[in-house]
Amino acid sequence: MSYLYQLIKLQNLDHTIAEDKNKLGKILHAKQDPSELVELRNAVDTLRQKIQKLKTRLKDEELELGSVSDKLNQNQQKMYSGKVKNPKTLQDLELESESLGRRQTVLEDQMLETMTVLETDELQYDEQHAALTAQEEAWRQTHADLENQQRDVALRLNEYLSERTKQTAKIEANLLKEYEHLLKSKKGLAVCPVSYEMCQGCRVTVNNAVIRAIDHGEIVNCPNCQRILYLPHP
Ligand SMILES: [Zn+2]
Repeated sequence: MSYLYQLIKLQNLDHTIAEDKNKLGKILHAKQDPSELVELRNAVDTLRQKIQKLKTRLKDEELELGSVSDKLNQNQQKMYSGKVKNPKTLQDLELESESLGRRQTVLEDQMLETMTVLETDELQYDEQHAALTAQEEAWRQTHADLENQQRDVALRLNEYLSERTKQTAKIEANLLKEYEHLLKSKKGLAVCPVSYEMCQGCRVTVNNAVIRAIDHGEIVNCPNCQRILYLPHP
């Protein structure tokens, strides 16, 4: 088989390789977690932290309310025990009890508010968490499909690449070098057909001498774009 034929075969192979590399790039890009999912994960995480803080706050309020109530009970026991006779001490106890009572009311209100917010947040969390679980599951499947596609394309690409190594061995070294240079500089088209006496790479007319030379099996470059020319068989 002529070098020209081997070059055309190599170029077809290179086009297939380029397509598969492109596919692989797209698959790798598609494998990244969707932004919608990342946002939902963050939202659920933020809500979880918020709920944790609310629970801690509620516990603190509960503890303080407990100690305020204890102190208030102690005061009241002292006041009504009849053991405290000093009017000043009694008055102090009364004032302190009033202050404790106010604190008790504030804490009870705060706790009620905390519990209301907590309840709303927990409902929202359950909803978001369920949505996230469903999305994660769907994404796991999509991701697994993409993994499979990636593996298939990568395996195929590997085969093409080893085929390419074999194919390049059939072509003379300098010609191969020229081909590879042209492939890069001529947008992936190093070898191109002459149709209607025109180079199909640059659309410039080539003369009969050029066509005859190709016909005789010579390696001929387009005088205009330098691509290697061939005559497509009818
Ligand atoms: Zn040309």
